[in-house]
Amino acid sequence: MSKGFVSFAEVKQSVTMEAVLSRYGLFAALTRKGKNLAGACPFCKGGSARQFQVNTLKNAWYCFGCKAGGNILDFVAKKEGVSVHTAALRLDSWFELGLMEEKPRAEPPAAPAEPPPAVSVEEPPAPKDLPTENPPLTFTLKTLDPCHEGLAPLGLQTETIEHFGAGYCGKGLLKGRMAIPIHSPRGELLAYAGLAIEEGASPRYLFPPKFYPPLEVFNLHRLEEAGDGDDPLYLAPEIWGVLRLYEAGFTRALGLFDGSLSPEQEEAITGALSLREGFLLMCEGFEDRTVARLARHAAVSLISGVPASPLMRARWKD
Ligand SMILES: [Zn+2]
Repeated sequence: MSKGFVSFAEVKQSVTMEAVLSRYGLFAALTRKGKNLAGACPFCKGGSARQFQVNTLKNAWYCFGCKAGGNILDFVAKKEGVSVHTAALRLDSWFELGLMEEKPRAEPPAAPAEPPPAVSVEEPPAPKDLPTENPPLTFTLKTLDPCHEGLAPLGLQTETIEHFGAGYCGKGLLKGRMAIPIHSPRGELLAYAGLAIEEGASPRYLFPPKFYPPLEVFNLHRLEEAGDGDDPLYLAPEIWGVLRLYEAGFTRALGLFDGSLSPEQEEAITGALSLREGFLLMCEGFEDRTVARLARHAAVSLISGVPASPLMRARWKD
């Protein structure tokens, strides 16, 4: 199939999640409750038998195991291991949608992959029945060791690790990882993220099964204690970037979890920006659409220097 232009919106309108799941032989194994389908996740396969959720009304899916979700394009892209653009072309072909148009414009000869689609600033669909709030945690991890030699590969100073209340976790779900507390904007402890210590480990972050990252922005509760001043606000695509920024002297820093932006996170960051000068410095590693959406609220500058994880993948997008 030659490369061509296909409207993502038209593909999304033309094919249902049920049809996509049926094509993969996955539909029959899901149980229906109203507009929702639930079952074992076709990607991570483990965990609860209901962790994979589909909202047929919104044509969206989410897995509480992989913490991944999106629309039919995201599903096919993940299933096939291809870009969203290629997923759209495959859906066009499989379901004989006839939506693909040959682009009159010549493509650059040495393009490494499909040209990136125009960045949309649409907000992602929020499947119904997803959590709207993360409840406070009822316990704290008391044995986290910020000085543990096993943390050395992370390249962080002990003082930084202590500042964030983090440390090496020797037991339980996050065993062998650095546990980093995540707080609500009011400072309530909500969860610990387990950052993998070895580079290339997957998943890079492990969250408790009931915790829903798209509702939170890391380090938001510390923004006020970071003090006033003319410093702009920094935003890192993941937690580790906030720790690196702190180490580099930037205390007014917030973090997302995988470079993607939920409507809740967008609102929280917008609120934080209004207290500042409206300047937002974004580290490397964000999805293009995340940058585009935040650029509606702030004067955004992209900075390099706090490296992003190569493991971060577009999630929860479109
Ligand atoms: Zn999964």
